[in-house]
Amino acid sequence: MSRSILTIDSKALEFNIKSLSKFSKKPVIAVVKSDAYGVGVKHIAKILEGIKEVEFFAVACVEEGLELRELGIKKPILILGGVLKGEEKAIKEYSLTPVVSHPEHLKPLEGLNVPIHVKYDTGMGRLGFLEEIIDDPRVEGVLTHLSSPAEEEFSKKQIEKFKNILKHYKNVKYVHLESSAGVIYKVPYATHIRVGLAIYGEKPLSNYPVQLTQVLSLKARLISVKRLPKGYSISYSRTYKLERDALVGVIAFGYADGMMKSLSNRGKVYYKGKALDIIGNVTMDMTMVDLTGTDAKVGDWVEIVGPHQSFTDLAKMAGTIPYEIMCNLSRRIKREVL
Ligand SMILES: *Cc1c(COP(=O)(O)O)cnc(C)c1O
Repeated sequence: MSRSILTIDSKALEFNIKSLSKFSKKPVIAVVKSDAYGVGVKHIAKILEGIKEVEFFAVACVEEGLELRELGIKKPILILGGVLKGEEKAIKEYSLTPVVSHPEHLKPLEGLNVPIHVKYDTGMGRLGFLEEIIDDPRVEGVLTHLSSPAEEEFSKKQIEKFKNILKHYKNVKYVHLESSAGVIYKVPYATHIRVGLAIYGEKPLSNYPVQLTQVLSLKARLISVKRLPKGYSISYSRTYKLERDALVGVIAFGYADGMMKSLSNRGKVYYKGKALDIIGNVTMDMTMVDLTGTDAKVGDWVEIVGPHQSFTDLAKMAGTIPYEIMCNLSRRIKREVL
């Protein structure tokens, strides 16, 4: 009954995890924050739990950790976004592993017997200690985050800085800093990779050396197909005028579903392999496309992401990153796991 479907290929997901792990020669911390990047954590958590290369999960906050436990996840769960007062009870009760990145994060954890990972800011300018060493027997892991993996010189400085910090942590079990793009550095002293985007087959860099398969496809149905005459204007604010008589389709997928408004008059979708221009402004629930030359009918499906374009391709046209588009995929889209 759904007018839009996001299909998740579980075999491809497993292939990508194994491929990333093999490339880096390390097990995986699967980052599934923000409802698994909009894909829907309830649809993929159990699949990931069943893959032996996945040793850890990571989410942004305690609520997301609880959700994983409620879905039956038994593997350890890292809370990347620090610890605030009031969160300690849930951390203990649900066996979550907090990442401490500020002195204030240690206060709620006083007297609590839980493992801790300590985060360093080696050049991200976001979370992390600069050089303070946390001398605490509960510390089982140390991490940092690369701010710009595409920049080799800067990344290597971060990797070197982190190596110096690690001299003070001889007995930790977990050392991690490589995100999807970061895996290209094959950091020899790290024990795990910490990846999100690439597990869905979206390449984080243009010359990405890891072999990946597309996991996600997204399609939506046409709710109207009609001929309109040359000169007719399309959608709100009349930003597009037909240069010829045209067959105009309306897809049941708008910016509320995750079609960025910046794709107005810029993006493309596909019908039976043929590229269709998005014409006029994208609206809340609908997007108009030029179907001229096709035999499309009301009810037919249009590919938004699939064999012809990835979320990364769509993001380039929209002037953003695939993360942002994926995180905005609405609840209204049906999720289907193959
Ligand atoms: C989101 C996030 C990751 C995963 O990044 P990807 O580019 O999706 O692989 C890793 N580490 C931290 C700290 C993050 O916030």
